[in-house]
Amino acid sequence: MRPLIVIGNWKMHGSLASNQDWLKSVARGMQSGMPAGRKFAICPPFAYLAQCGSLIKEHAIAFLSLGAQDVSSQGSGAYTGEVSAAMLKELGCQYVIVGHSERRQLHHEVDEVVAAKALQVLDSGMTPVICVGETADERNSGRAEEIVCAQVAKQVSVLQDRLADCLIAYEPVWAIGTGKVASAQVAQDMHRAIRLRLAEFDEDVASHVGILYGGSVKPDNAVELFAMPDIDGGLVGGASLNPQDFLAICQA
Ligand code: PEP
Repeated sequence: MRPLIVIGNWKMHGSLASNQDWLKSVARGMQSGMPAGRKFAICPPFAYLAQCGSLIKEHAIAFLSLGAQDVSSQGSGAYTGEVSAAMLKELGCQYVIVGHSERRQLHHEVDEVVAAKALQVLDSGMTPVICVGETADERNSGRAEEIVCAQVAKQVSVLQDRLADCLIAYEPVWAIGTGKVASAQVAQDMHRAIRLRLAEFDEDVASHVGILYGGSVKPDNAVELFAMPDIDGGLVGGASLNPQDFLAICQA
């Protein structure tokens, strides 16, 4: 049985003061218990990982893990501005998002780089959250499944059996930060297609890998999305910045 996982991607938001308030609210909200068999994490900017890690410990938020939004594809060396997987592990991260569409679009990250980052994350004992998804043009031209399955196939070709220790996040680019959520059925159909593509490689890997949906997830659409058989939770951007919305999605 795959656990339901909700991961908040704070993107480039937050401050020392607002992070403190967010974690205090979520600690209070999680105190009364959370649904069993679920996992929750937040991915703040690099600059706040140490602070958020300490606050999670200070408030004893047992239900909440820490994650990062990106990582270097290299282990160490002369890579100014980069952050290695080992550093993230040392800061207490359990998850690392790789290949987010904003990284692919704004920083020209290609599938090979995404796979190299995922390998770094795995080698450091953390879980990569590998993002895939099609643009509006690709969907409108009827190529959504072909594009997404090709992205998945690239990861399969590099990561092989190690994919069993990864999460995949299906994030249609047209749904990220736009308020245009994919309908639960559209999302389910793509998650199914991804799982079938994984099963062509290995049935066991396909049944183990958690596939999260991302793209304008909100408290009012999370219940329907998470009820779908191949949707194993959500990668939540904008709505994760509001502690009450994040809690509501975690409980959906
Ligand atoms: C994201 O950034 O991964 C995301 C899904 O954003 P939003 O929920 O705001 O669409």
